[in-house]
Amino acid sequence: MKTTKIEWTERVWNPSIGCDKVSPGCKFCYAESFAKRLKAMGVPGYEEGFKFKILPQRLQEPLKIKKPTKFFVNSMSDLFHEKMPFEYLDEIFEIIRKTPQHIYQILTKRDKIMFEYFHDKQMPENVWLGVTVENATFKYRIDTLKHIEAKIRFISFEPLIGPVGELDLSGIHWAIVGGESGKRARPVKQHWVEEIFHQCRAQNVAFFFKQWGAWGADAVKRSKKKNGRIFLGKEWNEYPFII
Ligand code: SF4
Repeated sequence: MKTTKIEWTERVWNPSIGCDKVSPGCKFCYAESFAKRLKAMGVPGYEEGFKFKILPQRLQEPLKIKKPTKFFVNSMSDLFHEKMPFEYLDEIFEIIRKTPQHIYQILTKRDKIMFEYFHDKQMPENVWLGVTVENATFKYRIDTLKHIEAKIRFISFEPLIGPVGELDLSGIHWAIVGGESGKRARPVKQHWVEEIFHQCRAQNVAFFFKQWGAWGADAVKRSKKKNGRIFLGKEWNEYPFII
């Protein structure tokens, strides 16, 4: 059952919410504007809008779902936020271990904190661990990711706001690429996407093209829906292992 619009997952699980901006990819953070809307609607948990907080009442949610499901952990936050207590992360990973039928996709821009947390821990088999790389400046996050043991490592090149240049994708299994959406979205260029795509092909990395976003392949601004998901003539929905 798909309960989120995010194309590359099936459900979201937010045992914490709220965040603070750490890099240019955060500029028009979708979670921030969504949190503000939820606050205005009076949704429990969002009384303080986008301020970081843990929500222990949500910890048990995956235990209630028996069907194997892909969960994106913390679509409304960053699991490795500076204020996240490591003891609470231990509780989250305990739930992950108790539910081996599920896959947990964890994506961060805080690669150093992620590394610090995992340096003395065993990674559960059902975790896919990823970092965001929005332009060439943040490729160092890939190097940090490679130093953490995980069955699947992935990179989200979204929102792609600049070229990333040469990539060493050894030890990386999956790449997600997408342009930015929203009124003030920054343009994505087709040749930036092609540069990533060809390197994924050459290095045997599964490729998922999420969206063009607000700017189409033809560099024209229009709705995200109209720009669609076609890249080089088709939709690219690859996942690790099924390339
Ligand atoms: S790290 Fe993610 S959730 Fe946090 S502000 Fe940046 S884009 Fe938003």
